[in-house]
Amino acid sequence: MNRTIEQLKQELHYDKTNKCVQCGYCLPVCPTYMSMGKETHSPRGRINLVKMVGEGKIKDLSVLEEPLNLCLGCRACETACPTGVEYGSILEAARAALVKRKTFSSPVRLVRNTMFKKVFPSKYMMGLTGNSYWLYEKTGLQKVVRKSNLLKKLPFHLGEFETIMPKAISPKQRSHFSSFVKAKGERKYTVAVFTGCIMDAMFRKINELSIQLLSEVGCDVYIAEKQTCCGALHAHSGEMDDAKELAKKNIAAFEDVKADYIVNNSGGCGAMLYEYGHLLKAEPEWAEKAENFSLKSKDISQILVLCGGFRNLTTREGERVTYQRSCHMTNVQKITNEPVELIKSIPGVEFVEMKNAAMCCGSAGIYNIVNYDESMEILDEKMKHMKETKASVIITTNPGCLIQMKIGIERENLSSSVKVLHLIEYLADATGVL
Ligand code: SF4
Ligand code: SF4
Repeated sequence: MNRTIEQLKQELHYDKTNKCVQCGYCLPVCPTYMSMGKETHSPRGRINLVKMVGEGKIKDLSVLEEPLNLCLGCRACETACPTGVEYGSILEAARAALVKRKTFSSPVRLVRNTMFKKVFPSKYMMGLTGNSYWLYEKTGLQKVVRKSNLLKKLPFHLGEFETIMPKAISPKQRSHFSSFVKAKGERKYTVAVFTGCIMDAMFRKINELSIQLLSEVGCDVYIAEKQTCCGALHAHSGEMDDAKELAKKNIAAFEDVKADYIVNNSGGCGAMLYEYGHLLKAEPEWAEKAENFSLKSKDISQILVLCGGFRNLTTREGERVTYQRSCHMTNVQKITNEPVELIKSIPGVEFVEMKNAAMCCGSAGIYNIVNYDESMEILDEKMKHMKETKASVIITTNPGCLIQMKIGIERENLSSSVKVLHLIEYLADATGVL
């Protein structure tokens, strides 16, 4: 019996829950506590539940299910916590423990296995997804579907997401991805770009522009051939073994390229790459390699600033711009200044910080699909602050935030007056690369 309890404590990272002194400093920064108003849906309440399960005071683990499923994983609570509680690690461990014991229905198991094991990790499958989307757009099927009532009938509000997806690129363009782009002028650094799975399938243009901008500021740019999905969606869904396998594949793929930095343009993927060291620290064969990988992993904004930014940017006289901060960039990677510095470097731009800028927008991986109503409540709060800025451009640094902000703009009927752009698109336009 005691052995079982000890095993469960280890599995749940119980020791880490002891650091919580129940002060409640994390409550006002937690979007789900603010919107739902329940202690069990706050960081303190969630930690307490895990603690009670670890101590055997709660026998049924399913008590954790709803509170943890409704957690965004934004980790704002970690930033606010004065005692350094590693909430992300507690959350991941508890989700993995739940998944291990859960009996999924056959259709759910099939979808999970297909997405986590076959689609996200496969370049071929992700390319096929991107190409199918292009075909859907190119053949005119998209127009027909949009005019019909069909989108409204899709489950999980997927129709709403369909209307804000970026323009697809053709299979021909997709196949033209050079594995090396030389620095313009004198070389300052050699970097390897992490292209991501969804980022590469649906936002390939942003990847291409990232490579051009890195070359523009003086980087030799490599694209590691054997790289794969970062594993963030797996880790956040409790599939830790799959996440570790993907991390190992990426570490091996980037070892072949002797780069100074591994550069990504997605806050969510970036946070995962940044934490490979933590993820594999118990595996002697991988721990050091993983730590080195994480140390080299940077957001593109950090590298662009490190290289001195851009000269001769087009003036944007009086353009009001605000920045939707990515939670995983802010709370995990602790990158807060560089994106703003780059936005402000464009002459004439009037940068306005929105109130509660660090508060999650409700996107959080697939949270906005599986917990649509809760996500929209959080988004509506975000849009209130966005509107107060009177900005005509919202900049993001993460594809999830980009999509969520576009949904927000649609919900507010602002699509004719407010643009949502990834930082890379905005910079590429100002530099003339676009
Ligand atoms: S997680 Fe940190 S901030 Fe929140 S109650 Fe515990 S000690 Fe306080
Ligand atoms: S990760 Fe975000 S949503 Fe989850 S408990 Fe922490 S602050 Fe709240």
